Amino acid sequence: MVASSEQAAQPLFGRVAIVTGASRGIGRAIAAHLSALGASVVVGYASSAEEADALAAELPRAVAVKADVADEAGVRALFDAAESAFGAGAHILVANAGVLDDRYPHLANTPTADFDRTIAINLRGAFLCLREAANRLPRGGGGRIVAITSSVVASLPLGYSAYTASKAAVEAMVRTMAKELKGTRITANCVAPGPVATDMFFAGKDDEWVRRTVEANPMGRLGDPGDIAAMVGFLCTDAAEWTNGQVIRVNGGYVS
Ligand code: NAP
Repeated sequence: MVASSEQAAQPLFGRVAIVTGASRGIGRAIAAHLSALGASVVVGYASSAEEADALAAELPRAVAVKADVADEAGVRALFDAAESAFGAGAHILVANAGVLDDRYPHLANTPTADFDRTIAINLRGAFLCLREAANRLPRGGGGRIVAITSSVVASLPLGYSAYTASKAAVEAMVRTMAKELKGTRITANCVAPGPVATDMFFAGKDDEWVRRTVEANPMGRLGDPGDIAAMVGFLCTDAAEWTNGQVIRVNGGYVS
């Protein structure tokens, strides 16, 4: 690809990024931001084809790919799509896809099937994506892995036991793999958001819950998907190479 002078100034020009769960919410903002930084983007999604296609059409170099992250073949297809659409394998993986089922006040009331679904998508899904990235990202510079976890790993709210466990396990895997990838110059980090105004956050919550969440935050507001995308974007640049094996909580300061 021959770069114009404007493109050459973009830190991620010539890089290919896969973002899972990019049809909506935080993943959508991350995909748009990486694109603005110059990357070509694979917009991963599970069922929101219309939203994913619309985003891919909006971005200069992007393709929407349907893939359930809990499925091995689906995850391989995301990486294959990066190669076939852009002629270069992925340099960047952002493992963002996730689900939250907060219908249960306590672990004691959580049905096994719901626990299994949370673990299948949030933990097994992240594992499959991380493993594929560890094997397929380029060596020698520019390889970047970012997993989106959650600040609940620190705040331990009631009713989120399966979700919190799934995210804590991802943080353990990423910190381990950052060391295992010694010699590749691939970095692996987690970005752990606090409450962010997305479908996931608002589902099942009333106005009072939202008010209390805003009030508890030093910034006096909910997070915006762009707050998270800004940190992910930085971690994907060459300037962030020395930031490796970290969990970065991006949450307005309500828990550290
Ligand atoms: P969201 O608005 O509910 O969007 C979830 C995204 O994940 C959608 O694009 C969805 O695709 C995708 N997805 C769900 N299941 C999938 C599967 N099996 N395979 C592939 N993609 C799947 O959620 P969000 O708030 O943006 O959350 C994004 C990430 O941030 C999650 O990992 C979440 O745990 C984490 N997080 C969120 C918050 C928050 O307050 N919002 C706080 C901390 C951490 P479809 O549209 O196709 O269904």
